Amino acid sequence: MPRVAFIGLGRMGHGMAGRTIEAGFDVSVWNRSRVKADDLIARGARWATSPADAAIDADAVMTMVADDEASQSVWLGKDGAGTTAKPGTLAIECSTVSHAHALELAREMRERGLIYIDCPVTGLPDAAANGKLTLLVGAESADLERARPYLAPLSTTIRHFGGVGSGTVFKLINNLMGAVQIASLAEGVAIAEQAGLDMTVVAESLATGAVASPQVIRHSRRMIARDFAGASFTAALRHKDAAYAVALAESLLAAPPVMGRAAVAAYDLAKEAGPDDDEGKMIEIVSRPKPAT
Ligand code: NAP
Repeated sequence: MPRVAFIGLGRMGHGMAGRTIEAGFDVSVWNRSRVKADDLIARGARWATSPADAAIDADAVMTMVADDEASQSVWLGKDGAGTTAKPGTLAIECSTVSHAHALELAREMRERGLIYIDCPVTGLPDAAANGKLTLLVGAESADLERARPYLAPLSTTIRHFGGVGSGTVFKLINNLMGAVQIASLAEGVAIAEQAGLDMTVVAESLATGAVASPQVIRHSRRMIARDFAGASFTAALRHKDAAYAVALAESLLAAPPVMGRAAVAAYDLAKEAGPDDDEGKMIEIVSRPKPAT
């Protein structure tokens, strides 16, 4: 049975590792805080003492951690997976990282003889736990074919954008546009609330009108009801993605990415107020009445 090392068992990684176990692979898991691995171990996974330990003799190493810093640490740190994975191993980075980091990590992996697959995902944690993610892949076609058996249990859709780094380019576009939509939604809801509109009518109109994207539909309900139960995507993660996207835009475009920068500024405030809060909770900052002069 092929061996898989799964590293990073947060909201997304825990579900993805569970799917990998259910698919019948021989799975080793590692997470910075071990407690998140307990039920996966009970379901048959082996606890690894480090990413390096997890990667020994693995056929595929998959990672799902927060950001560039975490990715650097689990792949290339002192006990990183890249220090022990054997040449020919698939190195599948599913975390949302910056484009520059994805390219640099791919270079480092290639130097070690590993096969790097750029594989950020879309879908919430329940999609991760149920194998319903969309995978945004940047890889050589032959490398993607080798990786498909490991990716299939995680996903309903695999979108192949081109070479390494291209999956991350699209992921950052997707999440920057989401950041812009959610930040502008917060302003729209705030204006409606402070102007005293009937918010039931506003909610219905937003969810069915011309601006009713999936992000607007989901977050307008939560913002208007102030129901942020079960934060699935945090202010800190959305801020990180928007900032990575703006850096990419600045490296490619002659014009300044004014919309992206505005979204980063909105998420600066949301992150400062509550980095681990639901990303839509920014409505509590935005919807305040102007003090009387
Ligand atoms: P999360 O629940 O906060 O989990 C983050 C994971 O990263 C945890 O396993 C955490 O370990 C680990 N980590 C953080 N810093 C680390 C470090 N310095 N060294 C080693 N491990 C570190 O986040 P998530 O929602 O699962 O998101 C994971 C990735 O998926 C992110 O890149 C995110 O942008 C992306 N994503 C998320 C969603 C979503 O809806 N949540 C959707 C699509 C993509 P501990 O458990 O020890 O803290």
